Amino acid sequence: MSPRRALVIVDVQKDFVDGSLGTARGAEVAAAISSFLSSDANKYAHIVGTLDWHVDPAGHFVAAGEQPDYSETWPVHCVAGTEGATTYPALDTSAIEAWFRKGEFTPAYSGFEGHLAPAFAEADWLKVERKTIGLEQWLQDRKISHVDVVGIATDFCVKATALDSQSAGFHTTVIEQLCAPVSDEGAQEAFAELRAAGVLIS
Ligand SMILES: [Zn+2]
Repeated sequence: MSPRRALVIVDVQKDFVDGSLGTARGAEVAAAISSFLSSDANKYAHIVGTLDWHVDPAGHFVAAGEQPDYSETWPVHCVAGTEGATTYPALDTSAIEAWFRKGEFTPAYSGFEGHLAPAFAEADWLKVERKTIGLEQWLQDRKISHVDVVGIATDFCVKATALDSQSAGFHTTVIEQLCAPVSDEGAQEAFAELRAAGVLIS
């Protein structure tokens, strides 16, 4: 069977580009992903995006008066329904077919912890029970065999998403040039961990 490839674009959101958790290469990477989509979108059977989407994420945000450790506690970011949680404008979202939100009430790094965002108003969505389909099931339903992962941040949500993708049985590749890290050392460690898990880095 010929490969069926999906592209997962991780967390290209304002807070991770130039907001409360901005990354040095975030803006550049958002533009680079758009340019990649204009030339390479047709390689993919499906293109999806993930969003960090916090309502009350249990200990993920630093407590008032304390300093974040940038490992488990973070400045407040990507609060559901706020400007900081929206996609960065340089990202062309026209080819993105579905969005998966993660972290509403728990810390969540992997897009595979996310659920398909329903297509109705935010105010209503916040009231209903969130039992929609997850990313793994969504990709399996579409007979995807290969997953490419790009986005922000290389050393956190890109890494976690790619590791989960690989362990879910998808042949997974991280496209290094289309990912922005929190730190360069963190990215190097992430690539080592990803390679050890069988993920390709291109
Ligand atoms: Zn978060």
